Amino acid sequence: MYRMSPTDRYRPLSFWHDTVPGTLSPTNPLRADAEADVAIVGAGFTGLWTAYYLAKQQPSLRIVVCEREIAGFGASGRNGGWCSALFPASLAKLARMAGRDAAIAMQRAMQATVDEVGAVAAAEGIDCHWAKGGTVMLARSGVQLERAKSEVAEAREFGFGNDDLRLLSADEAGALAAASAVVGGTYTPHCAAIHPARLARGLAEAVRRAGVSIFEGTAAREIQPGRVVTSSGTVRAQYVVRATEGYTPGLPGLRRALAPVYSLMIATEPLPDALWDQIGLAGRPTFGDLRHLIIYGQRTADGRFAFGGRGAPYHLGSAVRPSYDRVPGVFAALRRTLVELFPVLDGVQVTHRWGGPIGIARDWCASVGLDRQTGIGWAGGYVGDGVSTTNLAGRTLADLITGMDSEIVRLPWVGHRSPQWEPEPLRWLGVRYTQNALARIDEAAEAGRSRPLDAGLAEFFGRH
Ligand SMILES: Cc1cc2nc3c(=O)[nH]c(=O)nc-3n(C[C@H](O)[C@H](O)[C@H](O)COP(=O)(O)OP(=O)(O)OC[C@H]3O[C@@H](n4cnc5c(N)ncnc54)[C@H](O)[C@@H]3O)c2cc1C
Repeated sequence: MYRMSPTDRYRPLSFWHDTVPGTLSPTNPLRADAEADVAIVGAGFTGLWTAYYLAKQQPSLRIVVCEREIAGFGASGRNGGWCSALFPASLAKLARMAGRDAAIAMQRAMQATVDEVGAVAAAEGIDCHWAKGGTVMLARSGVQLERAKSEVAEAREFGFGNDDLRLLSADEAGALAAASAVVGGTYTPHCAAIHPARLARGLAEAVRRAGVSIFEGTAAREIQPGRVVTSSGTVRAQYVVRATEGYTPGLPGLRRALAPVYSLMIATEPLPDALWDQIGLAGRPTFGDLRHLIIYGQRTADGRFAFGGRGAPYHLGSAVRPSYDRVPGVFAALRRTLVELFPVLDGVQVTHRWGGPIGIARDWCASVGLDRQTGIGWAGGYVGDGVSTTNLAGRTLADLITGMDSEIVRLPWVGHRSPQWEPEPLRWLGVRYTQNALARIDEAAEAGRSRPLDAGLAEFFGRH
């Protein structure tokens, strides 16, 4: 009987895993107890960036990363590839939490982070198909246009100018992305399209070159002060960093820390240049529209659409299972939406379908921190904005652990403690209710009816 090799096993995870160079087998599993200065659990972007900056800052530190599967197995290898300056909490929300200046500093730090990711990728020779073409968000109804205007108005209130976010006329938006029913939009230059698995796998290599041990195929069973207990031994370390994002609820004591919600994607076959001439997206800006239940896309370096959206169900008890990555109804809806946006795509083949869990904090605010008493650090709750935010998290954790008094350790998300999620079944009811309500608001907008986000939902949704 044909048995899948470990390499084959990880290829179908996503279009990105299918097309990343190199082998995808777990290497160097932990075989016995070990000692380190810093032990990191999870080799996604959070864990890898933390290891990277720690190793660069203090090459003598003994750093290990324990990863249950392979580096880049989780959301980091599977995402939409928007390396953006988006942060899950809005400027207004950050200002309420920590003041106007702190909110502005956070946004500026996010903008700088986009370039930092590009600079490290270039310096380490990681060909992640980097294209800093910005983001065009299309308004395809009067309601969405109002939303575009209010997003630009909010940016202006906080002192961000046209160079950061500008309103587009219908013609300008259509010239960037010739989608149907476009009445306007917004454009920001602060985003690069990337091939996420190439970045994750390349970063893992860079981290290994810097002297870090990555133990793949090594599942942490428990994270405790001073130690990580794994299936094949215990790693003792002064500092332990939890970098498990959507998988966090599977660890003892952390069931209610983050809610894993699934984001799903499709990729088309490569399209001929003649079709791209009709569609646009020259320079590979990432794109979406201004509906509430987020959709996101990019033109890949090999000329496909990679396109995704939320809307897959949240599962009772914050369950995460491989089967939840694939929901035929959601894939069909994504394809319909993509063809609605670009009718010339009717008949184009979808070659890949996949998904993965994102982590949502109860107050929809990502956080990073280090508890000095226990030595346990964490970062997460990025919702769908982790590609660049994880880099800022990694630099921040490195500074916190080495005691570096930098500007980034004073940003408002540092040390922020989100409340716990409600126990089940309340959590399930709340998340499902929100998902359905957002879908209804979008449907009303499509039918030309404005249905405002009520205050409770807005707070839950975190946009305002
Ligand atoms: C479909 C999809 C599209 C997205 N699109 C975008 C986008 O375009 N832009 C953007 O900014 N963000 C996007 N995101 C979100 C972004 O990918 C994540 O926020 C980010 O990758 C989180 O990185 P991480 O390292 O914290 O988590 P992950 O990449 O999920 O890594 C966690 C790692 O921990 C490992 N792990 C878990 N439990 C254990 C354990 N017990 N022991 C050992 N290892 C363990 C996992 O195997 C995994 O490798 C998207 C996410 C998804 C799923």
